[in-house]
Amino acid sequence: MARNRLVIIGNGMAPGRVLDHLFERAPGAYDVTIFNAEPRVNYDRIMLSPVLSGEKAFEDIIIHDDAWYEQNGVTLHRGKRVTEIDRQRKTVTAADGTQAEYDKLLIATGSTPFIIPVPGHDLDGVLGYRDLDDVEKMLAAAEQGGRAVVIGGGLLGLEAAVGLKKRGMDVTVLHLAPTLMERQLDEPAGHLLQAAIERRGIEVLTKANTKEILGTERVEGVRLDNGRVIEADLVCMAAGIRPSTELAKDAGLEIGRGIVVGDDLRTSDPDIFAVGECVEHRGICYGLVAPLYEMAKVIAAQLCEDCEAEYLGSEVSTKLKVTGVDLFSAGDFQTGEGREEVVFRDAAKGIYKRLVLEGDRIVGAVFYGDTKDSAWFFQHIKDRTDVSEYRDTLIFGPAFAGSGAPDPMAAVAALPGDAEICGCNGVCKSKIEGAITGEGLTTIDEVRAHTKASASCGSCTGLVEQLLALTLGDEFDPDAVKPVCGCTDLSHDEVRRLIVAGELKSIPSVMQQLEWKTSCGCAKCRPAINYYLVCAWPGEYVDDGQSRFINERVHANIQKDGTYSVVPRMWGGMTSPSELRAIADVADKFAIPTVKVTGGQRIDLLGVQKEDLPAVWADLNAAGLVSGHAYAKGLRTVKTCVGTDWCRFGTQDSTGLGVKLERFLWGSWAPHKVKLAVSGCPRNCAEATCKDIGVVCVDSGYEIHYAGAAGMHVKGTELLCTVPTEKDAIQYIGALMQMYREQGWYLDRIYKWAAKVGTDYVRDTLDDPAERQAYYDRFVYSQQFMQDDPWAARVAGKDAHEFEPITISRELEAV
Ligand SMILES: Cc1cc2nc3c(=O)[nH]c(=O)nc-3n(C[C@H](O)[C@H](O)[C@H](O)COP(=O)(O)OP(=O)(O)OC[C@H]3O[C@@H](n4cnc5c(N)ncnc54)[C@H](O)[C@@H]3O)c2cc1C
Ligand code: SF4
Ligand code: SF4
Repeated sequence: MARNRLVIIGNGMAPGRVLDHLFERAPGAYDVTIFNAEPRVNYDRIMLSPVLSGEKAFEDIIIHDDAWYEQNGVTLHRGKRVTEIDRQRKTVTAADGTQAEYDKLLIATGSTPFIIPVPGHDLDGVLGYRDLDDVEKMLAAAEQGGRAVVIGGGLLGLEAAVGLKKRGMDVTVLHLAPTLMERQLDEPAGHLLQAAIERRGIEVLTKANTKEILGTERVEGVRLDNGRVIEADLVCMAAGIRPSTELAKDAGLEIGRGIVVGDDLRTSDPDIFAVGECVEHRGICYGLVAPLYEMAKVIAAQLCEDCEAEYLGSEVSTKLKVTGVDLFSAGDFQTGEGREEVVFRDAAKGIYKRLVLEGDRIVGAVFYGDTKDSAWFFQHIKDRTDVSEYRDTLIFGPAFAGSGAPDPMAAVAALPGDAEICGCNGVCKSKIEGAITGEGLTTIDEVRAHTKASASCGSCTGLVEQLLALTLGDEFDPDAVKPVCGCTDLSHDEVRRLIVAGELKSIPSVMQQLEWKTSCGCAKCRPAINYYLVCAWPGEYVDDGQSRFINERVHANIQKDGTYSVVPRMWGGMTSPSELRAIADVADKFAIPTVKVTGGQRIDLLGVQKEDLPAVWADLNAAGLVSGHAYAKGLRTVKTCVGTDWCRFGTQDSTGLGVKLERFLWGSWAPHKVKLAVSGCPRNCAEATCKDIGVVCVDSGYEIHYAGAAGMHVKGTELLCTVPTEKDAIQYIGALMQMYREQGWYLDRIYKWAAKVGTDYVRDTLDDPAERQAYYDRFVYSQQFMQDDPWAARVAGKDAHEFEPITISRELEAV
């Protein structure tokens, strides 16, 4: 018997989910054909912002890859826009003439960005923000640098602004209302959000009404109704969306703001369903995925002849996918007759919580800064739970709602089985618990793979982790607690803490007091303890050379033929004729075979015999050159561009700042090597955004980046802050360096440390002026003991035994 034919128009997130349910319920029931105007497979649209900001690649956000279509026998017409539905003949036709017949049709055309029809809206460089093509256009524009103006301070606009900023553009957000995201946030939360966005170096103008987009062929600026003109190389319109209804309208289906559907999600034609953002259900058009996924389940059931399945509408909640901004809002938070508010504020920690109650029920919630209990409150709103019994402590969340002592796990434990944990993928608590026990899952990655929970925007990752801990009990192994090595059961953090708490000031006392299992430790723990002691007791603890690797012991890098390489420091990449002459003379005198410029803007002398090292250093010292620490777990180089001295694009003296930073930071031992760079403008010639710490100079000051890497692992930096003066930049960087020195595990680069402690934590700590000053002061104090040129000390005779040639006695030679 011929199979039923299901044709789908649009290949977005909603129909993708319909097919997942359909194939699970009734595999093979339909012959499926999809027409998609976009020339690609189904992907996670909500993850476009991480693609824009560089945190993910397109490949990471694909939902159904090519193999999936093949396995499920789905015909996908990519890049084919349907232009006609013939309801009599039951066919759809695409712009290129491709046709398909259907028994059931599903319209899933989504929305289109609303482009404000001001003069200039059609200029080149004015974009919406909807699909991968928009992201690619923004990325191409960002490569040229310049300024982007984002019109609209809602969810999409702010994500676009942060992404463009991360890609190096100067960004201004224009928002019509007095506060950001005013439909999801009340005024106080809106102000907190604005401050957080501004801290990222983005200009925010509220009550800003765009009158005109300026330019002849390409956009050049935006004029506001108060006459102000903002220069722009790119304008991103994120001022709302409109359901795509034209096709359905032309086919004679009932249309309101969207395509009108009943609770069975059928349109006015019973053979035609509609799903997603193009739909209007009970007068509401949705713009978030959670309701669309609820609709998808119902349509799959209807397609399987389950006529009872109904969609009754959704309660929605909002989260913003901007790293470091924790906000949540749900329900209706307007005040009015019969409504009461409960508000909690902790200004020092930037926490604001507000609940709106009607009688004994929560009808709305806005949280900023602390959203960990949001799932519990959201469930209360959805279930219309009576809160009269714990109303007095309600704002403190589930930990205080019962009679027992506050317990951090209480929020998760208190959730009912059908509580939604992952809003993006509509995964509830019982499904996750079932998968953990049923499939024997033990890690967050496994839960993601099996249930899709936390696989999209990731904001529920903490909750899923708590569920893992709750379900597995003692068997839960948060992988952070790993011992330093086989000589101890203690973790790096514990060893560091106990060194300070117990005032342990030597390697033997650490091993004795902390009950090391071996007499002298091993190659893993000895260097780690040595570093932790150097860091904890500056000026008191004497570095143990024997606990260092050979390169650090001899202050040069051993090469594959047993000779050494010598790299003198060149502050900020600067040198002079006399330094170059001295290097040339040394190379001649010691017959050094290779002289090479390094990637860190200095000169490497390769092939030096070990016994020649002190003499080589003596000559270099005489010319004023000191060790470049090219071997050290500590500051390596500060790469700079020429900045305002020579470059017409330079915004600040990047070379000068690089030299100052290198003179300030050199000599400091750290958990691992630390490389810096300073670029004079967002063109970023010094490649500052892949360094451990990078500064990108901008017109308004200095963007401080950190946690980048470009070795075996490649990673762009995180933006820490933007500061107005060089002095501020140096203070932040000194404090950041000390924080990393005090907390990083030995052999963790900055990016690994930041991932462990969380970039929010790093930023929040350093944003606090008192904490920042304290870290900075400790760094400055420690530096007075660190900034000794190790070459000069060896020239003066320190560790002479390291450099003596080994003489083999005649007797031994004869053996
Ligand atoms: C940048 C961004 C970030 C977002 N972040 C979040 C978030 O954090 N949380 C959240 O819940 N939601 C978020 N959303 C909203 C969410 O992505 C949408 O609600 C969801 O993708 C809508 O799914 P859909 O299937 O209805 O439509 P869409 O995903 O828009 O898909 C519609 C598809 O139909 C195609 N199409 C249209 N007309 C035709 C035609 N005539 N013929 C053939 N094909 C056609 C389009 O090309 C498109 O591919 C975000 C959206 C964007 C753009
Ligand atoms: S980064 Fe430096 S060299 Fe590059 S354009 Fe800017 S100022 Fe010029
Ligand atoms: S590529 Fe690797 S081995 Fe070669 S010089 Fe660089 S770090 Fe050393």
